[in-house]
Amino acid sequence: LFITVEGPDGAGKTSVIEELYPRLQALTNQPIIKTREPGGIAIAEKIRHVILDPKNDAMDERTEALLYAAARRQHLVEKVFPALSEGKIVLCDRFVDSSLAYQGAGRRIGVAAIAEMNEFATEGLTPNFTLYLDIDSDTGLRRIAQHRSHQMDRLDSEGLEFHQRVRHAYLKLAEENPTRITKIDARQGLLDVIEDCYQAVVSRYPE
Ligand code: C5P
Ligand code: MG
Repeated sequence: LFITVEGPDGAGKTSVIEELYPRLQALTNQPIIKTREPGGIAIAEKIRHVILDPKNDAMDERTEALLYAAARRQHLVEKVFPALSEGKIVLCDRFVDSSLAYQGAGRRIGVAAIAEMNEFATEGLTPNFTLYLDIDSDTGLRRIAQHRSHQMDRLDSEGLEFHQRVRHAYLKLAEENPTRITKIDARQGLLDVIEDCYQAVVSRYPE
């Protein structure tokens, strides 16, 4: 079972997964693997570092898209494919939908081109279930500005329009894939967001 969590910056994905993971693990004897993209394994974390380094501001947007896909590929091969074939549940922070939204729409490369490239990288692996944490771009950006204590990512310098394109693409994906993607209102307080996510998974997988 492959479950992904998606959303624009400031939606609270990482905090939600942190709390959701132990609650889901308590429900089942099947081991749950918590992981993230880009990253999750050494080679992919290195690629993440290259992508997000503010010093790499000369990076071409197709180069960026290829690096995300390369990190994804290696993460799948080393971690996700083996876990899934052992019958484990994989809970992943971001997957292909992020590339469709950020590189396809945000960077304007085009969703279809990014989908095709990722088909190659993933050999067609699609999540069984996706929690999409929806947040409007103003609120998302305000949250980032308030909570980022760590150094700036290269992506943090993108403007409001970029983030609006990303969110719009996510909303469209959710609309087009209603059985796979469940939209969660991430403007709520963190505890309510976590509860909604938990209920969404439990109602989908009662065992
Ligand atoms: O999810 P996380 O905060 O770890 O992502 C790190 C940064 O990478 C964020 O600023 C996010 O917007 C960006 N990103 C991206 N394209 C992706 C995945 C993440 O621009 N496909
Ligand atoms: Mg983040």
